[in-house]
Amino acid sequence: MAANLTPVEEAIAHLLNKAPVIEGTQVLPLTESLGRILAQGYQVPADVPPADNSAVDGYALRVEDYTAGQPLTISDRIPAGSAPSPLKPGTAARIFTGSEVPAGADTVIMQERVEVTDNGIVISAEVKPDQNIRRRGQDLAEGSLALAKGTKIRAQEMGLLASIGVAEVTVMKKLRVAILSTGDELVDPGMPLGPGQIYNTNRFTLLGLLAEAGCDVVLCETLRDERDLTRETLERAASKADLIITSGGVSVGEEDHVRAVLEEAGELSLWRMAIKPGKPLAFGSISGTPVLGLPGNPAAVLVTFLIVGMPYIRTCQGRLQVYPVGQPLPSMFEVTSPSVRKEFVRARTETADDNTRVNAFSNQSSGVLSSACWASGLAVVPEHTTVAEGDTLTFYPFTELLS
Ligand code: AMP
Ligand code: MG
Repeated sequence: MAANLTPVEEAIAHLLNKAPVIEGTQVLPLTESLGRILAQGYQVPADVPPADNSAVDGYALRVEDYTAGQPLTISDRIPAGSAPSPLKPGTAARIFTGSEVPAGADTVIMQERVEVTDNGIVISAEVKPDQNIRRRGQDLAEGSLALAKGTKIRAQEMGLLASIGVAEVTVMKKLRVAILSTGDELVDPGMPLGPGQIYNTNRFTLLGLLAEAGCDVVLCETLRDERDLTRETLERAASKADLIITSGGVSVGEEDHVRAVLEEAGELSLWRMAIKPGKPLAFGSISGTPVLGLPGNPAAVLVTFLIVGMPYIRTCQGRLQVYPVGQPLPSMFEVTSPSVRKEFVRARTETADDNTRVNAFSNQSSGVLSSACWASGLAVVPEHTTVAEGDTLTFYPFTELLS
């Protein structure tokens, strides 16, 4: 029934409202900071670059000193890493990429445009001020904010921090997330399958997702479908983690104990969302630790983790950017029967004749995980909407959903 399904945005807002930002910070060498979240902003202590420098190998001169066709003598040679003396009036200085431009020079001519003669250099290009000079502070100006608190450190942020001389960074502690997969039918890969059994897929999907999301994982044993055991296991996990993510056991069957235990022994603040796949998603807490109860079906686990779990995790991580950014793209597929649930279609972009469109995997069953391996992201089909070929849909690449 649509009536008791919480709309996706409302459900996410509910979760974010209850998301505690992790307490505690850590100081790490910059070399170990990749993927971590800045716990403070970083100001620029001094201009980057610290001085005007040459963008090319060539010759520095003052435009005023130059007369077309007249050679200019070379009075100095400035290797990178040296402090240049002021340029002698009426001369040029040999200069290299990254060398500081000497005081008195106002342009640099690239060496390819210069002929070196016995009487000095002759230039075969237009000579005007400001050529090939990288100005002091053009990258980062002293006193400005280089990076804000809550920024995730990617390779480029590591480089930027290094460029302002930072050797150690203060980052947020990692979120510890316990993974609990439920189901009597589950067997770990590596073991033979008995009748009625399947391999525990979600445990590994979640392990990978959480690692990519920059969390520490507390991996729990696969949980049998028993009420008391479910409660005990959840309570034990609560003492070891900042967040518990379960899979399965949140539906309406009498063997679905996770939701029931949250209701009985903890708190259940949300259950059932207007999302496809993943309707039975539950959220609550046990012993004060938040619990995100994902559905059991493997593709629904991936989708609900990315769409609902990631904004929650980012908030707990103290991230600046919580929501993914989608791209509007024309659809290559049709949806003829509108759903009361917002659908996240496993999809990928395809480009032909310079035209990029989004295509859907043929089988969108919540049990079909191969769809997600074929796909490069999720396309959104809003509630009560039919889609015709060429209609614009929002597409979220997996990299964006998990960044
Ligand atoms: P449930 O919500 O527990 O009824 O699970 C829904 C469906 O997902 C059932 O077909 C389960 O067998 C399947 N399922 C649940 N957990 C897993 C898992 N960890 N790996 C693979 N399939 C699962
Ligand atoms: Mg189950």
